[in-house]
Amino acid sequence: MFRQMFEEKYMRFPGGRSKALTFSYDDGVKADKRLIEILDRHGLKGTFNLNSRLFGCERWHDRMDEEQTYLTFYNRSHEIALHGARHVFLNKVPLPEAINEIVQNRLYLENKFGRIVRGMAYAYNGYNAEILNILPQLGVAYARTTRSTHSFSMPDNFLEWHPTCHHTEEELLPLAEKFAAGAPENEFKNREPWLMYIWGHSYEFDDDNNWQKIEDVCDLLGGRQDIWYATNIEIRDYAEAYGRLRFSLDGERVYNPSAIPVWLEIRGKVYRIDPAQTVCFDKEI
Ligand SMILES: [Zn+2]
Repeated sequence: MFRQMFEEKYMRFPGGRSKALTFSYDDGVKADKRLIEILDRHGLKGTFNLNSRLFGCERWHDRMDEEQTYLTFYNRSHEIALHGARHVFLNKVPLPEAINEIVQNRLYLENKFGRIVRGMAYAYNGYNAEILNILPQLGVAYARTTRSTHSFSMPDNFLEWHPTCHHTEEELLPLAEKFAAGAPENEFKNREPWLMYIWGHSYEFDDDNNWQKIEDVCDLLGGRQDIWYATNIEIRDYAEAYGRLRFSLDGERVYNPSAIPVWLEIRGKVYRIDPAQTVCFDKEI
């Protein structure tokens, strides 16, 4: 059945899963602590985009001071990522100043937290073609926009990573329900993996008095074997490893040159390809 539809190869996430969920929250505000507690309780992972020269700026959504920021994010499974040193529009300052915003932000976060920081969210969604060109040269592997796709598709360009939706959008719950109930392997033609990407600012839950909303979404989507819970950079790096797979011309053999195992689906079967391993796909049954 549908034999001809299953010759295509589809990326599958770690463990052979076909769905991944990630969160992205901006500005390093005090309410992040409560959000992290909720994410941790549900086994979920997220990315927190931090400025490095606005600590303790309480009149701007109650930002954490330097010490609070360190204690909140040090040694956690969540990712910390760039949001510019001073939260300026990168497309509204001279290019050298924009570069300095990213470089200073990255140096601070890497040295303070002892990590390698390669992700970013554009402050005010401010970017242009010049910024897109410069990011790879600064070691930035992805950058999130604020443009909702209301879909579960992987990004075409990780430097313009459009999220599924902001948590205040009315589409959030219907999308979460669809994500929980469905799966790409039930699709006839489009069997690409599903990524649900939710973003926002944790202070909005205080402002709108609706922490229950994120609790409900986490209840619905957490604790499931069929979803990979990952930070933004984990998804970016996994997709890169998948993209490095080398196939024979007839498409029947695949070699994985990366240091991590990679999964793919062909003809309805999921294969795990270990690092430095070559796998031959089963012929049609
Ligand atoms: Zn921001």
